[in-house]
Amino acid sequence: DRIISANLMMEDHVVELSLRPRYLSEYIGQTQAKENLKIYIEAAKMRKEALDHVLLYGPPGLGKTTLSNIIANELGVNLRTTSGPAIERPGDLAALLTNLQEGDVLFIDEIHRLSRAVEEVLYPAMEDYALDIMIGKGPSARSVRLDLPRFTLIGATTRAGLLSAPLRDRFGVVSRLEYYTIEELSFIVSRTADLLGMAIVGEAAEEIAMRSRGTPRIANRLLKRVRDFAQVRGDGVITHEIANQAMELLQVDPMGLDHIDHKMLHAMMTSFAGRPVGLDTIAATVGEESQTIEDVYEPYLLQIGFLQRTPRGRVCTEPAYRHMKLPYPGQE
Ligand code: ADP
Repeated sequence: DRIISANLMMEDHVVELSLRPRYLSEYIGQTQAKENLKIYIEAAKMRKEALDHVLLYGPPGLGKTTLSNIIANELGVNLRTTSGPAIERPGDLAALLTNLQEGDVLFIDEIHRLSRAVEEVLYPAMEDYALDIMIGKGPSARSVRLDLPRFTLIGATTRAGLLSAPLRDRFGVVSRLEYYTIEELSFIVSRTADLLGMAIVGEAAEEIAMRSRGTPRIANRLLKRVRDFAQVRGDGVITHEIANQAMELLQVDPMGLDHIDHKMLHAMMTSFAGRPVGLDTIAATVGEESQTIEDVYEPYLLQIGFLQRTPRGRVCTEPAYRHMKLPYPGQE
């Protein structure tokens, strides 16, 4: 697995649970999303109503799950967590919904992966807090409507574009999470170090932040690796030098790119001589799935302006050539 992967890995689990901020005030960055949510949460509490359904979208590791936990916490209600692929049949969703209590939050991660049949159950649940059940078969079959408690659905997705329009339209609050700035990530790294009882100098926190691809999950993971390094090679304090050495060993460059990013960029610049390259070709070159490239790796390269999407494929930009120390062929 790539250390700079924003996807959840086994090693993240335990630490993530203990590091998750619990209240909005501890949640760093995402100012826009936070300010909006703060108002909606207050209003819902004042009216003693369930919060409107919330859709959170953005690349993995930016804090969607964390934010859902915080929303439930701030509302003072229970949170039930599930994911699109885990809800196989309409009955699975019906079971979840009927077990909710008034005001509860139901969190569905990867909500774009719900099946059509399951989605159909979700529409009346979201709109009217009702469940339509079919009883019987054939000509005598009829539909019975069950009332559900008023609840809040929080859907998270890396790809809002894949959501069907009827589902998307049923969310009252839609928030897009953004990549974090270096300052925000430095802050998160320092906070994590503090929680884990580690000493870290400011420059080291910033060094880790710069290499974290705008993503708190990656920042925390890199920090943990650096800590091991500091314990073995140093006296336990994470200095700037230790952070740098550890990153070199982990093969994460100053922009947060690893050997696979390098391989991909290098191939695009040399084998394809700067011509637009299709996603599938890129995927084959580096031995990853197209979907993974598109969802997980490419967004960051687009964000930092190293890649551009054109109708004929992806092209590397001048800053990317400079970073890779290769001559820029110029635009055709
Ligand atoms: P997602 O659900 O978007 O994949 P998570 O909510 O699981 O991301 O976040 C990954 C980790 O990053 C969390 O365990 C948390 O420790 C950290 N994290 C995310 N957002 C923040 C934030 N705004 N402030 C501090 N830590 C954060």
